[in-house]
Amino acid sequence: MSAIADNLQAVQARIRDAAVLAGRLPESVRLLAVSKTWPLASVINAADAGQKAFGENYVQEGVDKVAATRDRPLEWHFIGPLQSNKSRLVAEHFDWVHSVDRLKIAERLSAQRPAQLPPLQVCIQVNVSGEASKSGCAPDEALALCQAVATLPGLSLRGLMAIPEPTDDPAAQRTPFRQVREIFEHIRAAGFPLDTLSMGMSHDLEAAIAEGATIVRIGTAIFGERNYS
Ligand SMILES: *Cc1c(COP(=O)(O)O)cnc(C)c1O
Repeated sequence: MSAIADNLQAVQARIRDAAVLAGRLPESVRLLAVSKTWPLASVINAADAGQKAFGENYVQEGVDKVAATRDRPLEWHFIGPLQSNKSRLVAEHFDWVHSVDRLKIAERLSAQRPAQLPPLQVCIQVNVSGEASKSGCAPDEALALCQAVATLPGLSLRGLMAIPEPTDDPAAQRTPFRQVREIFEHIRAAGFPLDTLSMGMSHDLEAAIAEGATIVRIGTAIFGERNYS
């Protein structure tokens, strides 16, 4: 077995253990393999090991991998910061976007989604780290943004995404995830049928699953340490 296949099994085991500990079904948590900075060969390797859903942060890198894997039934998620001038490429190539944090981007993605494709599946990114992060809408803006996004025909509103400030303390890791879940419950109570909480990365997936994550976005624990040079 390849190292990537081994790592995928180890991450699936972490997900299973965390779900069971939280009294949840392991199948209620999906693994998104974050392949940013890794070559196509790594994606193919993971796909050969059974991985279906992949996440990318950089538009052109992601589009290249989507195009190169058209012959496989993979699902592609855009999870990085999105600039207006790149929205068309994302609308045309990806299945999901986790990082919608303002109405203007949502409107562009909806208008640019090709009519022959299913609606783009979207999450609203919420900033629960305050000043420390520039990405994500403020928690008190999330409901209004969901209300507006829910009316856009090219999009299907699925839930919320968050990237809390990293910390090694497991108890402290849970606090921002709990905050996101509370916002999620508040929006659901207002009548929006959200089913997705995209939260948890290699170092904090257990805390995220304990607080209700339904998609964990895992890069390092599958592919290894990234080299940005
Ligand atoms: C890079 C990245 C991940 C994966 O992080 P790891 O710590 O490598 O698991 C998840 N989500 C987003 C938004 C990312 O940019």
